[in-house]
Amino acid sequence: VIIDSHAHLNFPEFRDDLETVLANATTVGVDGMINIGTDIKTSRESVLLAESYPQIFATVGIHPHDAASFSEVEAELRKLAQHPRVIGIGEIGLDYFRNPSPADTQKAAFISQLKMALELGKPVVLHCRDAYDDLLAVVSKFYLPFCKTSPGIIHSFSGDITQANSFVQAGWLLGINNLITYPKNDFVRDAIKDIPLDKLVVETDCPFLPPQSLRGQRCEPAHTLFVIETIAELKNLSVDEVATATTANLQTLFNISWQ
Ligand SMILES: [Zn+2]
Repeated sequence: VIIDSHAHLNFPEFRDDLETVLANATTVGVDGMINIGTDIKTSRESVLLAESYPQIFATVGIHPHDAASFSEVEAELRKLAQHPRVIGIGEIGLDYFRNPSPADTQKAAFISQLKMALELGKPVVLHCRDAYDDLLAVVSKFYLPFCKTSPGIIHSFSGDITQANSFVQAGWLLGINNLITYPKNDFVRDAIKDIPLDKLVVETDCPFLPPQSLRGQRCEPAHTLFVIETIAELKNLSVDEVATATTANLQTLFNISWQ
């Protein structure tokens, strides 16, 4: 069983053919997905998907892009977060790449959602772009010391070995996607070679980030297989070994199982 641990199947790109997309995934052994919320609307949609499909679980959260809206939607988000099919809070974090909202606004929304996750006892899925140092500082102060379970996933990990080690040593799992199939990302591939398999999970971030061989096309959960194949190659393991281990890591983190 392969699980796409980070999908956005509620996005308009999948409106016309979701059933086909899910069938494509099953065909290549991708039998489960976690659908990730990014704002209040997509969080609602994420819960609906998880209610409709047994193979889909949901997370809810406000992405740094929408940090400014957090206080208005906090009450509803908290309600959604308690839904039995919602297994974590995310994606939340910091994004200094395009500076979608001021760093202070991002940090405030991020910290509030980390506290919500602690209260509810659900792990977090973190988004981080050009902000690894600040992100580590925030979670070290406001989250990790109070976390009684595994902290969660660093989604779309694209750092180097030093950054990978800092997260792994703090208990995080690294979410690896098709960024590792892109030629320029040698430093990420080098990092993955050295990080133990029990610290990795796989994802697509679909409809974004298709594998190198399908650049320009829509990404879908079936493309998780390219990630697994690349990790297997880098680590000299079989596709089965990587699939089994990464799925087990997810099941342990969220305490759920896919049939
Ligand atoms: Zn995402």
